[in-house]
Formats: sequence, C-alpha cells, structure tokens
Amino acid sequence: MTTATSAPVAPVYTVSQERRIVTAIPGPRSQELHERRRAVVSEGVSSVLPVYIAKANGAVLVDVDGNQFLDFGAGIGVTTVGHTEAHVVEAAAEQLQDVIHTLFTITPYEEYVRVAELLAEHTPGDWAKKTVLVNSGAEAVENGVKIARKYTGRRAVAVLDHAYHGRTNLTMAMNYKAMPYATGFGPLAGDVYHAPSSYPYHDGLSGADAAARTTSWLEKVVGASDLACLVVEPIQGEGGFMVPAEGYLPALQEWCTANGVVLIADEIQSGMARSGHYYASEVFGLEPDLVLTAKGIAGGLPLAAVTGRAEIMDSSQPGGLGGTFGGNPVACAAAVAVFESIEANDLLSQASRIGDTLKDGLAELAADYDIIGDIRGHGAMIAIELVKSGTAQTTKEPFAAAVTHIAEYAAQQGVLFLTAGTYGNVLRFLPSLAVTDELIADGLSVLRDALATLERP
Ligand SMILES: *Cc1c(COP(=O)(O)O)cnc(C)c1O
Repeated sequence: MTTATSAPVAPVYTVSQERRIVTAIPGPRSQELHERRRAVVSEGVSSVLPVYIAKANGAVLVDVDGNQFLDFGAGIGVTTVGHTEAHVVEAAAEQLQDVIHTLFTITPYEEYVRVAELLAEHTPGDWAKKTVLVNSGAEAVENGVKIARKYTGRRAVAVLDHAYHGRTNLTMAMNYKAMPYATGFGPLAGDVYHAPSSYPYHDGLSGADAAARTTSWLEKVVGASDLACLVVEPIQGEGGFMVPAEGYLPALQEWCTANGVVLIADEIQSGMARSGHYYASEVFGLEPDLVLTAKGIAGGLPLAAVTGRAEIMDSSQPGGLGGTFGGNPVACAAAVAVFESIEANDLLSQASRIGDTLKDGLAELAADYDIIGDIRGHGAMIAIELVKSGTAQTTKEPFAAAVTHIAEYAAQQGVLFLTAGTYGNVLRFLPSLAVTDELIADGLSVLRDALATLERP
C-alpha cells in the first residue's frame, strides 16, 4: 500500500498541450494499423476516429503519425484527472511492484478497503454505506439491480427514457436505444420497464409534473409493490446530457422511499468530479439509496463500484457478490490517487471553471447559429443539441447531419469531439479537468469554423 498522503506535484506535461496536425487524418501509419485491425478485430467493435494513439498526456492525444489532438472526450469521461496523470501513474506503478492480484474474496488487501472508505465519504448521504467493487460500469449496474432485488424481494426494474446502462445482457434491456446496443442480440432480460423521463428542452414540464408523469406511469404499468428499483442517470449520458427539471429527481426519491423501491443513481458518466461535485446527484439535492461509479474513478484503469446504504448492501448472502478481477489492487491504488488528485488540485472547482468557459463560448456561437437549440450540462459535462434552422422555437427537429459534419471537420483540425443523443443530434464536451481555458477557446474556434462550413438543409 502506498500510504500516499504526499500532495501530487503541479502538472508537468510530457506532451505539449496543443493540437498539431502533420499528416492527412488518418495518417499513413494509422491506415496501416487499421488494415491489420480489420483482419482480426470484430466488426462489432467500431471506432469513432480510426487514428491509432501512441501516447496521451493531460488533455492531448498523440497518434502514431505524430498528430496531436485536443481531447474533448477523455475516453468518454474516463481520464477525468487527465491522461497519464503523474500521481495516478506513480501509485499504479508502485502497486505493480507490490501485489498485482490475489482476489479480494480469497485473500484481501488494504487498497480495496481504502477505496470503499473514500466512496463512503464522497457519495451523497451521510448514513452508513458499504461498497462492492467490480470491473465495468455495466457490471456495476448488474450488481446494483441484483442487490436491490435481494433486498426488496421484488422482481421489476424501472429505467427512464433516453437511458444508457451498458452492453451486457441485463443492461442492453435497460437502454433506450435498441440500435446498435440490442438489435439482434435478444432475447432480452425480462421485467425491465421504461418510464417517461424529464427532458425540459422537449417536454417543457416542471420537475414536479415530470415526476408525477413518471411515477403514475410506474404505478399503472408495473405497480409499485412489484418494483425492486428505479435506475436513473442524474444527468443522462449517451442519451444527450439531459439535465432534468428542478425537483424531478428528489420527487422520484420521495416516491421510491414511500413505496419501498430502491433508487439507484447511475453516476458512471456524471460522477467522480465531472459535474463540479463529486456526484451530479448533489447538483439536484438527490441522495440516492445506491450510487454506481465507474469511468473516471481510476484515471483510466478498469474499476467500478456499487456504494450505498449499509442495510441494502448487506442483504446479499456471503459469496453472492464479487468476481475474479473486481477491485484489482492496481486499479484500486490508481483510484486512491484519483481521489487525492481531486482534493490536491481542487478539481471540483476546475470542473466548474470548465463548465463556465464552455457555456459562455457556446452561448456566443448560439447567438450566431440558430441551429444550436439548447446548451446544457454541469461542469465538464456540457452538450449542445442541434436542430434544423428555424425549428428551434417550434418543432426542434433533430439535425444529426450537423453533428456528424462538426465531428468530422474537427477531427481533421486536430480536435476530438464526441457525439451523443437519442437522435444523434447532440455534441458533447467532456474533457479532462486538466484542460485550460486557452485549449477550450482553441477547440471552440474549430467548432465555429465547422459551423461556418456546414451545408444547410
Ligand atoms: C458508460 C456507461 C455505462 C456502462 O459502463 P461500461 O464500463 O462501458 O460497462 C453505464 N451507464 C452509464 C451512464 C455510462 O455512461
């Protein structure tokens, strides 16, 4: 165990924090690698941008041809503390020398316990909490559902429209979009119910009205007494960074508590400092019964967690939870370093700073381009929803081709933007918290050029 209380040093970057394009995109070496990949990697695994990355540091990716990209995706919100962040690298390297694996369910180790302590401290709610560590977000969702079913003795699972929860058998039944996540992969798991959500830009409902719609739907279609859990993303990720109307989430929690339903917050994308809080639940005053953490928790190493009320987490029989690699010591050491970096570098404030800079810059663009229908999000989790010209005040017709154009144009200029949205018309910004205001301004200047070169329908 690294006792690792020493403060991380101020970032010294091993890659200059700037974009630089020196070949066509993708470059010749990336194209070569892509040919090799196509011979041996399943076509079911796709890549947004087929440039092959050789090095990554801070907010910059370097490909095998020497091109440098500003990374506004952070591996979908994983390298929140920055790529190859020095403190994380050091902690993981040290742990590699000590113990790589024993299996916590055979012979345990301190790092797992330390991560559970940190999660108990930083997840919302000041009650006694316990944790199980697993390998991936989807596995955390699966375990959250297992635990809620065991605790309640009930069968049904509720999710919200526009949700994304993963690609395993249970979680693909919990996603809103069949294509590409579930199409042809059935039969899907049963007893999963998709309730209407809060999407203020489209439904115009107050939090109270949207919550009443959700809970009355659940009462009619499922029946509260059969419902084990309601799983919500406090800010929806893949669905398009929908921020629910004020009061929506606390009203759902109140209904769940009154009906003995476990409320599970899937904070896999929105958690770990991204929103300017440790967990986006805090933005809304939500204190969920169980919280799921993954993506950003270990600086890029695979680790995920279910954390929540001790009496719920303890309902499983011994041996019912766990798995071979869950809570791997190296991933745990990295996670401890991530928590330390968040504190030492005041990353919650950095996330808020990034959100302010992005929102200001995007508002300037929206003043010139009416296709930017909505700007939403919190901290370093911001998105714009693009609609066809002239429809923003009326039908808000999705303009997915604009998002595709922007992402492709930006990649050619050395900026990696990710898309999202049920209708493919959302551009999302989830940079690492190492990104400076200068780099954000540079990225937004490329976005402005992309908008200027867009063909209107
Ligand atoms: C990414 C994600 C998942 C799935 O996590 P994996 O690690 O890819 O299995 C689940 N829920 C949300 C909200 C996510 O963003």
